[in-house]
Amino acid sequence: MQLAILGMYHETNTFSSVSADYDSFDIYRGQEIIKEYAKSHTTVAGYLACSDEANDIEVVPLFFAITGPIGTITKEAYDRITGEMLSLIEDRGPWDGILLALHGAAVSEEFPDADGEITRRVRTMVGPDIPVGLSIDMHANVSPIMVENADVTTVYRTNPHLDPRERSLECASLIIETIKGNIAPLSWLETPPLTINIVRQFTDEEPMLSVLKDLHEVLEKPGLIHGSVAQGYPYADVEEMGMSFLTIVDINQFSDRDDALRTARETSQWMARRAWERRKLFIGETPSPREALTYADEAYSGPERGPIILMDVGDNIGGGSSADSTYVLTEAKRLKVKGYLQTLYDPECVQLCIKAGVGASIILKVGGKTDNFHGDPVTVSGTIRTLFDGKFEDEGPTHGGFRFYDGGPTAVLDTDDEHTLVLTSLRCGNTSREQMYSAGVTPERYRVILAKGVVSPRPAYAPIAQEIVLVNSPGITTSDLSFFKYHRRRHKLYPFEEAAHY
Ligand SMILES: [Zn+2]
Repeated sequence: MQLAILGMYHETNTFSSVSADYDSFDIYRGQEIIKEYAKSHTTVAGYLACSDEANDIEVVPLFFAITGPIGTITKEAYDRITGEMLSLIEDRGPWDGILLALHGAAVSEEFPDADGEITRRVRTMVGPDIPVGLSIDMHANVSPIMVENADVTTVYRTNPHLDPRERSLECASLIIETIKGNIAPLSWLETPPLTINIVRQFTDEEPMLSVLKDLHEVLEKPGLIHGSVAQGYPYADVEEMGMSFLTIVDINQFSDRDDALRTARETSQWMARRAWERRKLFIGETPSPREALTYADEAYSGPERGPIILMDVGDNIGGGSSADSTYVLTEAKRLKVKGYLQTLYDPECVQLCIKAGVGASIILKVGGKTDNFHGDPVTVSGTIRTLFDGKFEDEGPTHGGFRFYDGGPTAVLDTDDEHTLVLTSLRCGNTSREQMYSAGVTPERYRVILAKGVVSPRPAYAPIAQEIVLVNSPGITTSDLSFFKYHRRRHKLYPFEEAAHY
């Protein structure tokens, strides 16, 4: 039995001015995929782990393209990536099954449902009889096109995402059982008009705890072989934007197809209805930079309990933001907060630091250069502590299960007002403390650390944090959704329209 692995992984913030062109993707083929991902905890790793020589199951990694969450995928990039994917399926086949690793919130210039379109094209190419598995991120804005064209769709169940590998393993196992004829999967996707604010998405806390409890309860039902909840991604302006509930049943365990479909539908609708009834809990309110910093400065109780971690919601790098917002830094300077640490994307300033060299004193205008949504450049003076190539490795657990990271050439600046700025040349999320250690910075020694994310930095920073505080800074990932002008989302959609009904 031969299964192909292919994927394109991109979460598209349609409000970002940084478009995802072909060069912004890292592309891996064949053995390169094994080298990069086999030892990680990503979706691709789960698929790779299904190879089983004893049982004659061969999983063949063909193609995987990935870029960090930035703006819309250009038509050229989408055509080249999907073109190569389809050619590889055709040239290297025949296949018994196809395993797709997509994000589920990708948007291209031509296709608002870019992942749905990939799934549709793959289905059209292989025909109706070859099982197709799809494993996607919990932030997916799941569309009927994705689900209809896949035999099995699985979604992460954790945010921060610590289970991509488990979910793709399940997806592949269900596809293998389908190929063997042991099961006949049938899915029902329910998409109530409901969005969940990014600051309510941590799955270890309410309201998500109850949503997942409902999911685990329905998974016990006879005939059900899988179930998922997707939180959706509010920064992609697409029709599907919002939460969704997916149930997969095995037709063989029901009297007929209609009976199976009824169970799948009723189960998805039950989960959706329960979430809908709790919809007011999905709205988020968080303090401003000034409120959060003032609180942190006073609440910090000493090194034995660790730093207070502020989550920069408006500059959520994993949500597609610029990584160079200066709103919180500006306020930290104004409030004279000491022992403050953060990263800032600023390749120009990194080059100036490289020229000046380690130990040099320097005056820089840092950050605020990508667009007009993330504050102005801030003048800082200080001493260059270290320079390094920005590459680091983390065995985990990390958000998304990734292992190898690249922040590009990086400079660490200790400013005269007792702040440390880690200046990077690539937009690299704060999802691993190794980012700091490898730059020669010990985060435990700081009083207040700004992590540019909402949920994704938790696995890295919760272990050393006295407390985690979310900060509603302005920016293209702000939790204040009234900031965004949507053109394609559904009407009416809660909480944008209070009168939305389900
Ligand atoms: Zn995600």
